[in-house]
Amino acid sequence: MPEKPQNVISNLTRVELENHLIEHGFKRYNASQIFEWFYQKGEEDFSKMSNISFALRAYLQQFFRVFIPQIAKEQASADGTHKYLLRLEDNSLIETVLMQHDYGMSLCVTSQIGCSMGCAFCASGLKKRQRNLEVYELVGQILAVAKHMKLRISHVVVMGTGEPFDNYDQVIRFIKTINDDKGLAIGQRHITVSTCGIVPKILAYADEPIRSNLAISLHAPNDRLRSKLMPINKRYPIQDVIAACEVYFKKTSRRVTYEYILLSGVNDSLDMADELAQLLRGQNAYVNLIPYNPVGEFAFKQTDLTRASAFMDHLAKKGINTILRKEQGADIQAACGQLRLHSEE
Ligand code: SAH
Repeated sequence: MPEKPQNVISNLTRVELENHLIEHGFKRYNASQIFEWFYQKGEEDFSKMSNISFALRAYLQQFFRVFIPQIAKEQASADGTHKYLLRLEDNSLIETVLMQHDYGMSLCVTSQIGCSMGCAFCASGLKKRQRNLEVYELVGQILAVAKHMKLRISHVVVMGTGEPFDNYDQVIRFIKTINDDKGLAIGQRHITVSTCGIVPKILAYADEPIRSNLAISLHAPNDRLRSKLMPINKRYPIQDVIAACEVYFKKTSRRVTYEYILLSGVNDSLDMADELAQLLRGQNAYVNLIPYNPVGEFAFKQTDLTRASAFMDHLAKKGINTILRKEQGADIQAACGQLRLHSEE
């Protein structure tokens, strides 16, 4: 029994904790007290939560446990990015990346152990999904890094290893937990989920009460090329993805970000830029051009800066909002697409 995820205090959203406590004879507001102690004051010992009754403290000690992943390894990049290898309770190892921005500290969170999407350019997909991460393992990435670095994480991107919408329920409960104002209080506009385009889940996401941001990994302007690069496109072709994003925009009024890795000689011609502009015309979209980060196993090459700028200018001329993402942490294999599954070091 103690090893069940639901016995870890950070595996429950506040509403779930409230329901649990009410069921066991305690009060709804106790959940807020516990959240404040644990997430805001960093108290890991239930017996020290001094404004809570002894009966509840005893119950918490008996039923719940605290788990924060251990940092097995830390690497620092010259640009200030840190990559952590975290050890979970079952000894699985996952990677998480801390990025320093002028607007705050952003954590790139891993959602699955391995990934089954098989994108042709991504190191994370070299090993198939072994399992989904539980809510407490998602939250634990933030807790572990914040505690270790003694800082507040202000932004979260679910862009580490794994496909977040292939672990949808946990990812949504995770977002509710970290957004909670009694907890870490990370603003909904500071949370971004990136998906390879799992259409039914994009539609479900549009109906969630928390309006966190949506990013779509597009990487090609047509089905022929996209299916070659991203096998998921055979299941959910581009037009379906775009249509789902339109629904998302209608319901949320939130602009969608489209991520587009520039792969030299593959998807970076001006013709492709034309096709992309055509595809996104009339969408309230934002294109994020990403430099390809080298992965030893693949033969792709980075588009040079001149060509990348030409691609960007071309999109801009066609009225598409575009930015070129700055590569971070590539020297420690911490950049987009470079996270991978680790076995025991
Ligand atoms: N599975 C999710 C989130 C993880 S990837 C998704 O597909 O969106 C985060 C971003 O990094 C995605 O846009 C992904 O396509 C991109 N990426 C993957 N491999 C990359 C590489 N080698 N270089 C640059 N970006 C890469």
